[in-house]
Amino acid sequence: MNALPLNPTLASLPVYQPGRPIDEVARELGLEPSSIIKLASNENPLGPSPRALAAMQRILPQLHLYPDGSAFHLKQRLATGLGLRPENLILGNGSNEIIEFVGHALMRPGAEIVVSQYCFAIYPIIAKMMGASVITVPARDYGHDLAAMRRAITPATTVVFIANPNNPTGTLVPAAEVLEFVDHFPPHVLLVMDEAYVEFLDEPADLVARIRAGTHPNLLLMRTFSKIHGLAGLRLGYGIGVPDLVASLERVRQPFNINSLAQAAAMAALEDAEHVNQTRANNRAGLAWWDAELKKSGLASVPSAANFLLVRVGDGQRVFAEMQKHGVITRPMGGYQLPEFIRITVGTPAENARCLSALLAVLGLA
Ligand SMILES: *Cc1c(COP(=O)(O)O)cnc(C)c1O
Repeated sequence: MNALPLNPTLASLPVYQPGRPIDEVARELGLEPSSIIKLASNENPLGPSPRALAAMQRILPQLHLYPDGSAFHLKQRLATGLGLRPENLILGNGSNEIIEFVGHALMRPGAEIVVSQYCFAIYPIIAKMMGASVITVPARDYGHDLAAMRRAITPATTVVFIANPNNPTGTLVPAAEVLEFVDHFPPHVLLVMDEAYVEFLDEPADLVARIRAGTHPNLLLMRTFSKIHGLAGLRLGYGIGVPDLVASLERVRQPFNINSLAQAAAMAALEDAEHVNQTRANNRAGLAWWDAELKKSGLASVPSAANFLLVRVGDGQRVFAEMQKHGVITRPMGGYQLPEFIRITVGTPAENARCLSALLAVLGLA
């Protein structure tokens, strides 16, 4: 029996199931780590920005010093790039930490948050951690039904979360619909627009302009260095909002949440247009390739605007497990109530080909 007076919400908290690390799968299946490819966590198949790697090398001798808790240079650089002021930005240990700031600032017992079915798993986990209730709105064609989400808002609602493109479905709400939603959103509710994959889009809705204009005090955008910049292991994301909102969130941020390596790497990654452009081009070609190959094999997938896709495979857990034995790690989707699907990150052309062979072999379609 546990004698500690544990917070009773702990027992009912859902547990996040991350993509499986290569080493863990290697140990479990007795495979060489170098023989395994991971297409499970929407990581950048081209690796980190080379400029970011060089910048980190340069600051290694200074690691005995605490990082700049205000991340002065990085905020300046980000703000300049976005046409904003540093006061518009808050940095997080991954954008996941920004979600937690939002939780501390706006969620408590009695409060409600509104999310979509098949939403990013961290939103409901943070809400439940804070004792808030989660209202889940049924998806439309695997994506967000914005009108229904708007109708689900009650006087108790404090936050609405929308990821666009969405993870794990890859669905995209068109820019015009997003803008119409954002511009007619109730002022007493925080709208979090999670733009983790925005850099992969050709014509994203320009929500930064709304922040710049100062017309949307209840709008928070979230972005990350984990996806297009290939720095998921460093943990760096950022929130964009009006200065008052950012100042409220800053009150719950730990002073040194962004380490020195992450600050240096991010500055350099922002100058690495070549890496970003190559990543985008590889992704665009990869999505088109997957689309064509899946059609040839008669497999259904959800049209994706991101760097991954959901493929309908029947028994997703079995297919995931069998593909691992071929050295290919994908993501099973049972935890997202999508048990017939696996999620596959777009890899390099060679990784995509290997993943498809493993998939077809496991399905008996090879
Ligand atoms: C990957 C992802 C993030 C980014 O998480 P980090 O904590 O920045 O690594 C945020 N939101 C969504 C929807 C994502 O898919």
